[in-house]
Amino acid sequence: MKATTICPLDCPDGCSLEVTVEDGRIASIDGSHANPVTDGYICAKVRRFPERVYGPDRLTYPAIRKGPKGRASFQRVSWDEALATIAERLVETRREFGGEAILPYSYGGSNGMLTQDTSDATLFRRLGASRLARTVCAAPTGAANLAMYGKMPSVSYHDFAEARLIIIWGANPTASGLHLVPHIREAQRRGATLVVVDPRTTALARQADIHLTVRPGTDLPVALAIHRHLFEAGHADEAFLHSHAHGAEQLRERARAWTFERAAAEADVPVGTLRRVAELYASTRPALIRCGYGQERNRNGGSASLAILALPAVGGKFGDRGGGYMMSNSASWGITNTWMGAAEPPTRTINMNQLGRVLLEGQPPIKALVVYNSNPAATTPDQRRVLRGLEREDLFTVVFEQVMTDTARYADVLLPNTTFLEAYDLVKSYGPWTLGLGRPVIEPIGESRCNADVFGELLDLAGLRDASDPRGELEEMLNVLGRLPGTIGEEVRDSGTAKPPFDGRPIQFRDVYPRTSDQKIDLYPAALANEATAGLYVYQPDPATGEFPLALISPASEKTISSTLAEIPRPEVRLLMHPDDAAERGITEGDEIRVFNTLGEVRCKAALGGWIRRGTVSLPKGIWRKHTANGYTGTALVPDTLTDVGGGACFNDARVQVSRQQAAGSGQRP
Ligand code: SF4
Repeated sequence: MKATTICPLDCPDGCSLEVTVEDGRIASIDGSHANPVTDGYICAKVRRFPERVYGPDRLTYPAIRKGPKGRASFQRVSWDEALATIAERLVETRREFGGEAILPYSYGGSNGMLTQDTSDATLFRRLGASRLARTVCAAPTGAANLAMYGKMPSVSYHDFAEARLIIIWGANPTASGLHLVPHIREAQRRGATLVVVDPRTTALARQADIHLTVRPGTDLPVALAIHRHLFEAGHADEAFLHSHAHGAEQLRERARAWTFERAAAEADVPVGTLRRVAELYASTRPALIRCGYGQERNRNGGSASLAILALPAVGGKFGDRGGGYMMSNSASWGITNTWMGAAEPPTRTINMNQLGRVLLEGQPPIKALVVYNSNPAATTPDQRRVLRGLEREDLFTVVFEQVMTDTARYADVLLPNTTFLEAYDLVKSYGPWTLGLGRPVIEPIGESRCNADVFGELLDLAGLRDASDPRGELEEMLNVLGRLPGTIGEEVRDSGTAKPPFDGRPIQFRDVYPRTSDQKIDLYPAALANEATAGLYVYQPDPATGEFPLALISPASEKTISSTLAEIPRPEVRLLMHPDDAAERGITEGDEIRVFNTLGEVRCKAALGGWIRRGTVSLPKGIWRKHTANGYTGTALVPDTLTDVGGGACFNDARVQVSRQQAAGSGQRP
C-alpha cells in the first residue's frame, strides 16, 4: 500500500512523502510529486526514518525512573500511573513553589503545528509556568527579519533560476534544504555567478565562482564593507531608500569605517575577493541573497543578519523575479497562534540556551521540568552545566520522546511519543511557501501517544480543562484549522494542502511588501538598537585567546540537522581540522585528540581536510553523547552567552585548543 504524508522535521523543505506500507509496517519512504518542490526525491535522513520507528532505541511504553539519574534505568508503568504521577507533581509544585517553578522545554523536534503550542501551551499557561524563549536557532535572524521587513514573504526556490547573481550566505542547502540545490545549478547553467560565504568548502562552495571563507563571527564586517561600497561608490539606490526605507543614514554611518582592507583583515579573506563580491553585487540584476543561519550563531549574529538582509534594500535589488532575499517563510501565511485555550501569563521568561545555569542557579528554583520535542542534554550550550542541572535529585523531570535520547536518560517519568508517521499534524514549511496535512500511515508503535492526547489528558488530571477545550488530536486539528486566516483551513480540510498567494512565487516589492506598520523597511530598528548593548551594526571582536585560538563550529550535516535521528548508526564522529593546524600540533589523520577549553573537553579522532579554513575546527551538529570517546558533544565547549539581539545561542563563539590525547582527566566518560 502507498500512503502519503508530509515531512514535519526541522528542515526548510516540507517534503511531500510517499510511504510504502506492507502488513502495517513501513517498508520504505520516498519523495512524492504532490509538492512540486519535492519533485519525487528526499534526503537520506528521512529515507532512514524507519530505523527510528522500529529501532532498538524506540520508546514503546511509559516508565518511571528506578536508578540514578542519567543511567536510563526505568521500570514500566501504565499510562494511567505515569500521567497521574505527572499531574500530581505539577499541581503540587505549583502549590508549594508557585507556577514559575515549572519549566516546559520544547523546540523543533517536530515542527508541526499540532505538536507544539496547542494543548501543551494551554496546560502550561494555566499552570502559570515559566515561559520559554525558544531561541536555540533562528532567533537573531527572525528578530532581524521581523524588525526590518515585518517578515515579508521571500523568494521561492523556483525563482533562484532567474537570478544572475546568487549569494549563499551562512547556509549549506546540501545538508539542510536540499531541494534548493537544483535551482541554483539551473541558474548557473543559465550563466549566473554563484558566491558562497562559509568557513568550510561545502559541496556548493566547491561549485561556486567565488568562495569567501570568512572567519566565524565576521560576517558583519564583510556585509558592512559591501554596504560601504554601495553607499560610497554611488551604487546605493537612493530613490528606493527614500521611498521605501528608514534608517539608511544610520546604516551608512555604521558601514563607513569598514573599508575592504579592514573587513578583509578581520574576516581573514583576500581583499581583492571581497571587493569583487561587492562590485558584482553592485552591478548585477537580478541579484539574490539566501540568508541562512550560520552567520547568526555568534556574538554579532543579530547585526550580521540585519546587515545581510539590508543589502537588497541598499543595492536596489527588489522588484525583479529572482532578485531580493530568501529567508524563513514560516510567517508568510500570516498565521498567528490564536488557538491556545489560555492567555499567556505574565511569568518570567527563561532563555532555553541557558538551561544549565537556570537549573543550577534560577530563582525561584525550577522544581519541575517537562521536556518534549527537544534533547537539551545534547543540544544546549554549556553541556556540562546542563547535565549537572538534570542530575539534581530535587528536580522532577518528565521527558516525552520517541527514542531514548541523552535527555530521556535523565527522566523521572518517561513517556513514549508517536512519530510523524503515526499521528496527524499540520506542516508549514519555512523554505518554500507550503502548508499541508500530515497523516498517520501506520498505527502508533507500542503504547506511544501523540502530544495532543497526552497534554489534553494532563489538563483533565490537573483539573485545568475548560469545557470548550478540544479533546484529542482530531478535535485539536479542527480547532487549529478553524482559526487559520482566510480559506487556508477549508482548503486543507478539503484537499490536504493550501494554495499560497502568487503561486508561492512572489516578487518582493512587486507582489509583496514589508509587513511593518508603515510597509517600509526599517534599516535601523530602534527596538533592536536598544537591545544590542554594544550598539547595532557594531562589531564585537573575536573571543579567541592565545590559550584557545581555534574557532569551533558545529554545522548541520547530511546525517543530522538537529539531534533528531542521531540514534541511527553513523560513521565515526571526528573533529575536522585544517592540515596546517593539525601539523602545528603534531596531529595526523585518525589521531585520538582532545578538544578543550575552560568549559569542558571532547575526545574523539581527528579528520584532516583542506575544506575547512585555517583556525577553524568543526564537529557535526546534533551528535549525541555516545558519539564521542568521553561522552561530551561540541555543546560542552559552547558558552551560554547570547547573541547581540534575539537571545540566540553563540555556538560559533566556542574557542578551543586541540591536542593529541595524553593523560586522562576531566574528559573521562561520566
Ligand atoms: S528533512 Fe527536509 S529534505 Fe528531508 S524529507 Fe524532510 S523536508 Fe525533505
